[in-house]
Amino acid sequence: MRPEVLNPLFAEVRDLDGVGPKLMKPLEKLGLTRVKDVAYHLPERFVTRRAIANLDEGGEGEQVIVALTPTEHRAARNPGRGPYRVLAQDEAGNICALTYFGRASYTARKQLPVGEKRWVAGRLDRYGDMLQIVHPDHIEKDSAAHMGRLVEPVYALSEGLTQPRIASLASQALERLPELPEWIEPGQFEHEGWPTWRDALHLSHKDRSEGARDRLAYDELLANSLALLLVKADSRRRKGQALAGDGSLRAKLDLPFEMTGAQKRSISEIEGDLQQEAPMLRLLQGDVGAGKTVVALAAMLIAVEAGKQAALLAPTEILARQHFETLRKMAAPTGAEVALLTGRAKGREREGILMGLIDGSIDILVGTHAIFQDTVSYKDLGLVVVDEQHRFGVAQRLALAAKGKRAPHTLAMTATPIPRSLTLAQYGEMDVSRLDELPPGRQAIETLVVSQDRAEDVIAGVQRHLATGQQAYWVCPMVREMNGAFQASDIAAAEARYAELRERFGDDVVMVHGQLKPEEKDANMERFASGEAKLLVATTVIEVGVDVPSSTLMVIEQAERFGLAQLHQLRGRVGRGSEKSRCLLLRGSELSETAQKRLALMRETQDGFRIAEEDLELRGGGELLGTRQSGEAAFRIADLDQVQRLLPVAHGDARLLMDRDGGLTSERGEAARQLLYLFERDWGVQLLRGG
Ligand code: ADP
Ligand code: MG
Repeated sequence: MRPEVLNPLFAEVRDLDGVGPKLMKPLEKLGLTRVKDVAYHLPERFVTRRAIANLDEGGEGEQVIVALTPTEHRAARNPGRGPYRVLAQDEAGNICALTYFGRASYTARKQLPVGEKRWVAGRLDRYGDMLQIVHPDHIEKDSAAHMGRLVEPVYALSEGLTQPRIASLASQALERLPELPEWIEPGQFEHEGWPTWRDALHLSHKDRSEGARDRLAYDELLANSLALLLVKADSRRRKGQALAGDGSLRAKLDLPFEMTGAQKRSISEIEGDLQQEAPMLRLLQGDVGAGKTVVALAAMLIAVEAGKQAALLAPTEILARQHFETLRKMAAPTGAEVALLTGRAKGREREGILMGLIDGSIDILVGTHAIFQDTVSYKDLGLVVVDEQHRFGVAQRLALAAKGKRAPHTLAMTATPIPRSLTLAQYGEMDVSRLDELPPGRQAIETLVVSQDRAEDVIAGVQRHLATGQQAYWVCPMVREMNGAFQASDIAAAEARYAELRERFGDDVVMVHGQLKPEEKDANMERFASGEAKLLVATTVIEVGVDVPSSTLMVIEQAERFGLAQLHQLRGRVGRGSEKSRCLLLRGSELSETAQKRLALMRETQDGFRIAEEDLELRGGGELLGTRQSGEAAFRIADLDQVQRLLPVAHGDARLLMDRDGGLTSERGEAARQLLYLFERDWGVQLLRGG
């Protein structure tokens, strides 16, 4: 149960004054559903405004406050299209247009009556020969209202929200903040000279206060570390089962290759863990193509040798199917029974699988999250493998997966090379095996950076490539907007490219993207994987795991819009066969220096760990922690810099607290519980009770 003192923070936003049904949507888009979300919706930046007596004094692009008198309202000729303009005059007679798009024009009609002087705050710009302010931030009847806020917060908005509106909600949310006991270690707190939690939130909305921001970030990192430590402590306490395989099934494997040293080492590390009663919590980190699948298979066979079942959880349907096919083939000589369960299995088929799991005739189950639904029971599940689960969700997943009486061992696999400094943030204290050696015989992928203007030449090159009988990928960027939806323009661009390529290559082209129905997506993938289709146009759905060795060319459009980790993963789709592979990165014409450096790095190296480390240096590493907007981000408050600076301290602090007060029953322990609730890491608290 959540401590009562936190209830006002968890009240719904509609409790705040002025939030009617109309505002709910825009607020939800920003992820603001509770009062605490609003309080934590910290300003993106602050503007410093200058009050000017007349427009001549303002510089272009400057944030100003100026008294203006509207002289004329001009609606767009075609209502709904083009902006709504209010012409207004300063004391010296200079004219400025106040410009509104969309529904904001209603505000203009109400707030800017002709002939009445108003104080207008906003960014002064030029439009043709005219000065203009687009969507003024504030319009007030008297100057006094402005004077208090020459430094002003600027919040992230969504359609339907304005700065004053969100500022008013923020200040209401701040008024409701309770006093909370201090959870930060007293020495640390004093050493940093940080404000209390409540003051820190107030300050963060008011001004650029580094200390306050750091404190809030620290809170978040502390909550995260603590939750991860609770998972770890819980799994240590819990009885698992020691799995000793006799090697009989593994001996029957008939692999067409010799395992690399790194694979052998990882398998023996896993084998060692499985022999312990305490459930394994291990991360297998290995670049794309490093050969994680066969390591997973060996681990699962150990479980089967010990008379238990194993399950492999894949993040997508496509991957689940691919793993299933691969594993079934590889495992065939061993006689282990491998089955597939996804959300799409229905009726008889599904029942058959469920029966097989209960009676133990299925040894290895591969599937999507469907394999952990409540209706799915296992006879004796000994090992869970989680594939490509590189987002933060891993710890939470593990906590859920481990809810049985006897916790299964867990192996998480990731192809995202994470800089060492960030492993801790994402995976807590999991043990790590690294596949830092690629299987022999891999050819380097030739990577070229090409101007987007040369797309025509590139298409001609693709044609020559396909004529040799090889296949190719063509990747278009799809970037999510704030609210998690894809940008319409990206979808349109991808569709247009597909149409163009289809005109050229006809049925040889297929397309997969996230908007397709799953059946369609699979059918298209299947046509490509079987070699029937030659060119796969895709958005990043092919990012994880797809394996088509005869595809040896990859074109990535607007490569600068992808994160390096993503580019690296995409590129890893080629270079899987014996033929020489090539990757063309098409770039836009106006690249920042950082963007140029990032693409150059891609050209220079294929070492995922190096790319990850340098990407972090280049300041583009946000993607490593997930994009904030997508809602999958590990951290909402802490930025990358804060993670690097503060995480080690927060983690040490969390560990100390756990050592002294693992049940979180002391005064500070109780405060820390509240912190966990506040950051919705309360699954950590629930583990406490279970133990
Ligand atoms: P990933 O780590 O990206 O999941 P996979 O397990 O899919 O990599 O392996 C990539 C390819 O390399 C597969 O075709 C696999 O059969 C092959 N492979 C794995 N291990 C070796 C090895 N030791 N020698 C040669 N090929 C290997
Ligand atoms: Mg894989």
